[in-house]
Amino acid sequence: MAIAPSIIDTRRHQMFPTLEPAEIARLRRFGQVRTFAKGDALARVGEVGHGLSVILSGRVEITQRHQSRQSTPIVTHGPGALMGELAQLAGRPALVDARAQDTVEALVIPPERVRAMFVAEAEVGERIMRALILRRVGLLETGAGGPVIVGRTGDGDVLRLEGFLARNGHPRQRLDPETDAEARALIERFHVDPGQLPIVLCPNGQLLRNPGETELARCIGMVGPIDPDRVYDVAIVGAGPAGLATAVYAASEGLSVLVLDCRAFGGQAGASARIENYLGFPTGITGMALMARAYNQAQKFGAEMAIPDEAVALAGVAASGEFALRLFNAERARARSIVVASGARYRRLNVPQLEDFEATSVHYWASPLEAKLVAGQDIALVGAGNSAGQATVYLANQAAKVWLIVRGKSLEASMSRYLVDRIRGLENVTLVTEAEVSGLEGSNGTLEAVRWRLAAGGEIRRQMRHLFLFIGAEPNSNWLAGALKLDAKGFIVTGREAGSARQLLETSRDGVFAIGDVRAGSIKRVAAAVGEGAQVVAMLHTYLAASDRQGSAQHPH
Ligand SMILES: Cc1cc2nc3c(=O)[nH]c(=O)nc-3n(C[C@H](O)[C@H](O)[C@H](O)COP(=O)(O)OP(=O)(O)OC[C@H]3O[C@@H](n4cnc5c(N)ncnc54)[C@H](O)[C@@H]3O)c2cc1C
Repeated sequence: MAIAPSIIDTRRHQMFPTLEPAEIARLRRFGQVRTFAKGDALARVGEVGHGLSVILSGRVEITQRHQSRQSTPIVTHGPGALMGELAQLAGRPALVDARAQDTVEALVIPPERVRAMFVAEAEVGERIMRALILRRVGLLETGAGGPVIVGRTGDGDVLRLEGFLARNGHPRQRLDPETDAEARALIERFHVDPGQLPIVLCPNGQLLRNPGETELARCIGMVGPIDPDRVYDVAIVGAGPAGLATAVYAASEGLSVLVLDCRAFGGQAGASARIENYLGFPTGITGMALMARAYNQAQKFGAEMAIPDEAVALAGVAASGEFALRLFNAERARARSIVVASGARYRRLNVPQLEDFEATSVHYWASPLEAKLVAGQDIALVGAGNSAGQATVYLANQAAKVWLIVRGKSLEASMSRYLVDRIRGLENVTLVTEAEVSGLEGSNGTLEAVRWRLAAGGEIRRQMRHLFLFIGAEPNSNWLAGALKLDAKGFIVTGREAGSARQLLETSRDGVFAIGDVRAGSIKRVAAAVGEGAQVVAMLHTYLAASDRQGSAQHPH
């Protein structure tokens, strides 16, 4: 079988650009020239480095480390080359080693100046940004520089840790003790009982035994402590499309921004296999690709990311009017304003083994992709609201047969009349009322049959490969109970219903805004979330300017 060429071979010239002398001259104002002796380390895996460097003279060898700790060369940088990777944008630990081959002079641009450079030098900034992203893609290919997970393929905790790192765009390597002698050697070296697997070996040499995501993230430097004295202009809770859009617009307009997410950047959109209806992507784009672009863009403008970090409570700091977000790890983040973009999660069925089939057979969305997937097949769809109705009409076009399963006696109480009529007119849709899905059958993640129990008694079993669930969404707003006005379903109320003279995205509390899926009445779409993220920034400016005026009126000089 032919091996796919590495990105290092196919896009080498974009990955390792050489800057012109005139470009370097313009970049000098953002950094400081430093000299390194032959053999000096300019970067070390697992250690926070100096920032980005432009090599002025001499040569620097860049190498990557593999699980066995042996190193292989990636590239040797000469004069005009740019040294760095995405980690340096955020001041995170390096994923590669860099060593001076002879005396090296380099222009070192620290992370806080890198952002100013991107803003002031758009053309060269674009080439640098592209190079940084491609370098990360290259490291993701090999996994070099990331933690090594030792555990059995298919083990739930291995999948959890791998999934977490993948969703955060972080390189990782996995070794299976059943097939890999090196894994067995590590287990022996660290005296690990097989029951304690998986273990994770972090680049700094620390060993973790089946860690939680936060513990792993801290160990590899993905997230650091939050400065308790720093007061950000805005703290954004949630790094889905809504939160990331706010981060991009707010940071690019000069506000200091902190973004928190308890799991990964991208939110629900990041989990979408293909987004077909986002403006500007006529062939569709994976949610992860779209969200990774937004995440890098926000960091380019200087937004600080704290992922994973979970907000557990919101409190106002009385005298100053500032807010304090209490985090799961007992830290606090301070900000003059808050944007809640904590989204929603689709309600799941309470049936055994649901998770096993979620990757391929259980769907929470009906796009052209899913329609293609079910062409000519029998499917089941659960739900009685408008989204279930729309999905039924849409999928019935492609599927051979749709079993529409609802708990109630009829659709009329919960679905718009026009959808009920359309569904009635579809010969290949069978409505099953007063029924609940009671079991799923299948193997290796592929669904083979669905069972449902009838209120009148008896259980029906039908063979099918796909099940669609449209049983509503639950807002991620528990952590705000008592702090903000919520509607009956827990969505955050904004605008006029939140109080008199409230703007569209303002909550019941001054200085706290809500956007995206967590907001009552919002359109649950990526584009709508992004639009609200952009829109809220204008309101933030107005609010911050007013609080500045109030502050100076109270404390005149
Ligand atoms: C499988 C699937 C496919 C989809 N496909 C499409 C599509 O093709 N087109 C389309 O337009 N829409 C699609 N959607 C809907 C779309 O993804 C959502 O409308 C959109 O992601 C909402 O964005 P958001 O930023 O408001 O919230 P979310 O995307 O839900 O992001 C919220 C973020 O907040 C974080 N968070 C929650 N609570 C806390 C807390 N207390 N502290 C810190 N962080 C917290 C979460 O971890 C999450 O990352 C799809 C949804 C799903 C589930």
